[in-house]
Amino acid sequence: MQFRKLGRTGLKVSVLGFGASPLGAEFGPIDPYEGQKTVDEAIGEGINYFDVAPYYGRTLAEERLGKFLKGKRNKIILATKVGRYGINYPEGFDYSAGKTYQSVDDSLKRLQTDYIDILQIHDVEYAHYNQLVDETIPALLQLKEQGKCRFIGITGYHLSPLKKLAESQKIDTLLSYCRYNLLDQSLEERLTPTVKEKGIALINASPLHMRVLTEKGAPSWHPAPDKVFKAVRKAIRICQKHHQNIANLAMQFALSHPVTSIVLVGMSKTRHLRENLKNIGQAIDQELLQEVMTILEPVKNIYWEEGLPENHDQGAVKKRTMGLEREHKIKRG
Ligand code: NAD
Repeated sequence: MQFRKLGRTGLKVSVLGFGASPLGAEFGPIDPYEGQKTVDEAIGEGINYFDVAPYYGRTLAEERLGKFLKGKRNKIILATKVGRYGINYPEGFDYSAGKTYQSVDDSLKRLQTDYIDILQIHDVEYAHYNQLVDETIPALLQLKEQGKCRFIGITGYHLSPLKKLAESQKIDTLLSYCRYNLLDQSLEERLTPTVKEKGIALINASPLHMRVLTEKGAPSWHPAPDKVFKAVRKAIRICQKHHQNIANLAMQFALSHPVTSIVLVGMSKTRHLRENLKNIGQAIDQELLQEVMTILEPVKNIYWEEGLPENHDQGAVKKRTMGLEREHKIKRG
């Protein structure tokens, strides 16, 4: 395993992080026994960063991860979130101080622990900047004082609200998703310089663009326009000609970014974990990368509307789905 510094926190994190949203059945039902095996094996292989949220599987992912980590909690750095609890706005969101305190207590119970290492505000583009600054961040700092969390962070999709917060607030980590991978590299110009300058740890989540960059393809709820999926199917055929799997190319691309502390990929299956581990330290096939980038060029940097209109990055397209199908996928048990 390779380790990198997590900004100025003093923590050393595995470059491959374990995204636990699939444990909450966000990509379809999973076998909990296989989920447990994947977590055990990941820890055995040196993965020490686990990211979850009350939102994933509407608490199911936290419940499962809490069980799977029994006896292993002190081996890992555990990150969860506050602020997002459902799909639809406004009922699925609450960034108030009161809800934040309640949510952390609930997460601690589900995760069977008495502290969170990294406590993050989930999807800041759904919040008004003033509420985050006046209520949510002070609540996180209070929780830090109380020892319920060690460091604080922000997460989201749109880069402009993340940038504004990174520039004005003292935060330790910034998680961006779907904005630095084979399909979208807009993070590089718009946010990387800020995190570098501020010493904030960058966590690059969804290196597979929420499963678009795999042979299985996107889940039905994926918000990207169809032309993105079509272009990726062409890229998959090119990879196959080179006896390469597009997921591996995508992982190698994300892992080679020098500013990123953690590449956070969602996993619930040992075979995916093993594939992803193989990509650490693996030199990327530059010729294939160029071919794939050329095919994906017409759909490069397409990002969709998410959150409050005041927070949208300029040029965002309408979502393909409103995410409602995602609700039906969550099957507990
Ligand atoms: P992802 O791009 O990591 O894709 C995950 C999907 O790809 C899952 O279905 C998984 O089974 C599959 N997969 C994983 N490895 C594979 C492989 N080698 N070959 C084929 N398929 C493979 O998307 P994600 O899970 O949404 O993102 C990663 C993690 O980042 C999440 O689990 C979550 O912890 C975090 N995240 C956070 C936010 C936020 O805070 N706002 C948003 C998105 C993601």
